[in-house]
Amino acid sequence: MRETRSTCAYCGVGCGVIIESEGPRITGVRGDPDHPANFGRLCSKGASLHLTAQPEVLASRRLLQPQWREDRAQAWQASGWDEVQDRLVARLLALRAAHGPEALGFYVSGQLLTEDYHAFNKLARGLWGTPHIDSNSRLCMSSAVVGYKKALGADAPPCSYEDVERADCLFIAGSNTAWAHPVLFRRIEAAKAARPGLRIIVVDPRRTETAEFADLHLALRPGSDVALFQGLLHVMIWQGWIRADYIAAHTEGFEAVREAVRAMTPARAAQLCGLPEAQIIEAAQLFAQSPATLSLYCMGLNQSSAGTDKNQALIQLHLATGQIGRPGTGPFSLTGQPNAMGGREAGGMATLLPGHRDPASAVDRAEVARLWGVEQIPDRPGKTAVEMFEAAEAGEIKALWIACTDPAQSLPRQSLVRAALQRCELVVLQDAFTGSATAEFAHVLLPAATWGEKEGTVTNSERRISRVRAAVPPPGDARTDWQIVRDLARRLEPALRPGQPRLFDWNHPAEAWLEHRAATRGRDLDITGLSYAGLEVAPQQWPCPAGAAQGRARLYEDGRFATDSGRARFLPIAWRAPAEPLTVERPLQLSTGRLRDQWHSLSRSGTVPAAFASAPAPRLGLHPEELARHGLRQDELVAVESARGTLHVRVAADPQLGLRQAWLPMHWGSEYLLGRDEEGAAMHGVNSLSQDARCPDSAQPELKFAAIRLRRV
Ligand code: SF4
Repeated sequence: MRETRSTCAYCGVGCGVIIESEGPRITGVRGDPDHPANFGRLCSKGASLHLTAQPEVLASRRLLQPQWREDRAQAWQASGWDEVQDRLVARLLALRAAHGPEALGFYVSGQLLTEDYHAFNKLARGLWGTPHIDSNSRLCMSSAVVGYKKALGADAPPCSYEDVERADCLFIAGSNTAWAHPVLFRRIEAAKAARPGLRIIVVDPRRTETAEFADLHLALRPGSDVALFQGLLHVMIWQGWIRADYIAAHTEGFEAVREAVRAMTPARAAQLCGLPEAQIIEAAQLFAQSPATLSLYCMGLNQSSAGTDKNQALIQLHLATGQIGRPGTGPFSLTGQPNAMGGREAGGMATLLPGHRDPASAVDRAEVARLWGVEQIPDRPGKTAVEMFEAAEAGEIKALWIACTDPAQSLPRQSLVRAALQRCELVVLQDAFTGSATAEFAHVLLPAATWGEKEGTVTNSERRISRVRAAVPPPGDARTDWQIVRDLARRLEPALRPGQPRLFDWNHPAEAWLEHRAATRGRDLDITGLSYAGLEVAPQQWPCPAGAAQGRARLYEDGRFATDSGRARFLPIAWRAPAEPLTVERPLQLSTGRLRDQWHSLSRSGTVPAAFASAPAPRLGLHPEELARHGLRQDELVAVESARGTLHVRVAADPQLGLRQAWLPMHWGSEYLLGRDEEGAAMHGVNSLSQDARCPDSAQPELKFAAIRLRRV
C-alpha cells in the first residue's frame, strides 16, 4: 500500500489528507495529522473521498475519452486526443477568422488547481487575446474580494484559523459553518469547550446548527445585513465603544460614515431587521468590548445584490473598534471552494490579473505581458460570469470553453444560460465526470483528471498554499487540466505566434507554478520565498517573500494597510432592500444553500450512497406554520413559481426557518427537480427559480433571495 499526502477536493477549509492506494486504485483516505488546517480531522465529505474513486464510479460516472459531435443532433463520437485537438484547433481558428478573438469566452472553476488557472488565463489573455475569462468563483466570493479591496486595499483575508482559538468573541454572519465548513466548526466547538467564556454571535435568518450553538442568534430579516451592521456601528459610536485612537491613526473617511449611520438608530435597525433592539445593543457591546473579536462570513453576505456593501459594512465594524491586526481579531471571509483563493491569486477572473493586478490598469497589464513574454494582453476587464452568458445569448460571444463546472445547472436565470449555450456555435466542456446538464449543449467533451490523480497547489481561506498530489494515474485517456490547456495552446501557437518562442513550454505543473510565483514578486501576496519542494514538506501562508522563514499568519499588525495612503478606508454605505421585493403575488423569500454531506451539483459527492442518508432527495423547507397556512402536508408535491420559471418539488416542515421564508438545497438537478421556464422549456434544478440581479461592484448574483409563490399540484 502506498500513502500520498494531498488536500481535500471539497471546501475552502483546505484539509490535508493522506490517500491510501494500491497500484492504480485508491483504497482509502484519512486526515493528515500534520496539516495545520485540520490536524487529522475530516468531515463526512472528506472522509468519503476515496469512495468517489472506486472502479464502479470510474466505469459509470467518469469521462474517459475525448468525444466530439459536429452538431447537437448527432451522437457522440469517441476520439483520440490528437484528432480531437486538431479538429478543435481548426474550429477555433475558423471562429477567430470570422469573428475575432473576443468571440471566445472561458468559464472555469474554483475546483481547478492554481496551475490550471494559470494555464487557462495565459491561454485566454496571453495567447488567444480575449479578456473573457471568469470563474464560478464569481458566484462564491467576488463580493468578499471587492469588499477587502475597497476597505483594506487588497484582496487578502487578514486572519488565520488559529485566530478562532485566540478570539474572545466570534461573530459569524451568513455562514452555516457547521455544515459548509465542518472541520472549522469542530475547531469552534473545541475553542468553546476549552474556554466557555468565548461568546459566539450568529447572524442568520435561519436557526441553523451553527445558530443553535451560538450564545446570541440574530435571526434577522433576509437581506437586512447592512442595516444590522450600520445599527451596530451606530450603537458603538454613540455608546463610546469605538477606538478613536485606532481610527485616527490608521483609517480615513470615518466622519462621513459616522454621518451615514447617524439615522440608523437601534430602533430603526431593529425595525428593518425584525430584531429586538436589545439584541442589537448586546451584539454591539460584545463585538466592540470583547478583548478580541473575529468575524467569519460566507455566502449569506456574498451572494447578494448588495454583497460588497455587506462585506464593507462588516469590515468597518472591525476598523471602528480596532478589532483587526491582533491575534483573535479581524474580518475573515470563508471561501466555499477548495481553490477560489488560488484563482484570485492567479488572476483567473474577468476583473483580476495575476498577482492581484488589475486589468483596468495599463501598468498592471504591461507587467503581466512582460511576465508572460507577450506583446500585450486585452486592454480591459472581461465579462463576468452572467455577463458572459448574456453576451453569448445576444450572439456576441460565439464559443464557450467551460472547465470543471456545470453552468446549465448552477448559474442563475437558467432560461438565459440555456439559450446562451444553445446559441453558441461551439461549446467545449472539460470535465472529469459525465452527465452534467451542460454536456447536453456541448460539441466537445475533454476528459479531465481529478482528485487523487493530479499534481498542483491550492490556497485555502487562510491564505495557506497546500500541495495536491497524484496517488494514481488518471483513468482512461483523462489528462490533467493544465496539460489539456498546454497541448491545445501548443497547437495554436504556430498560427497565432509564428516563429516566436513557446509560451507553454511546461512538462510539469511546477513550471507553471514558477511562472505564477514570479507574478507575485513585490506584490501583497509575494510567495517568492516558497518552493514546490518546500510546499511538499509543509503548507505555507502567503505572503512569504524571498528570505522569509515562513508565511505570515496575520496581516496589518502594524496598522498599515494596502491602500496608497496606508490607511484603511471607511466608505459611506446606504442600506437597500434585495432586488426582488416580496409581493402579494409572490409572498415567500427563497434562499438556497449547501447540505452537510453534499457538494455542488452532485457530480462527485453524488457517487457516494451514504451521502444521501441524511437527505435522500431535495425538499423545499417551510416553517410549520407556513406549511399549515398554505394547507400543505409534509412531503406534498408543490409547484414553486418565481418570475423566471416553475419547479416541482416536495415540501417539508423546517422549524429553522422564519415565516415567509423557504429554503432549498442547491445540489439536485433534473433527476429530482425538473423546472420549466415561462415558455415551458425544461430547466435543471433550483436555479430555474433564482435571479440574476447582481451586486454592482462585484457582479455576484443574488442567489439568497428570490420572490416565490407555491401552488398545489
Ligand atoms: Fe474537506 Fe472541507 Fe470537510 Fe475539510 S471541512 S474535509 S476541506 S469538505
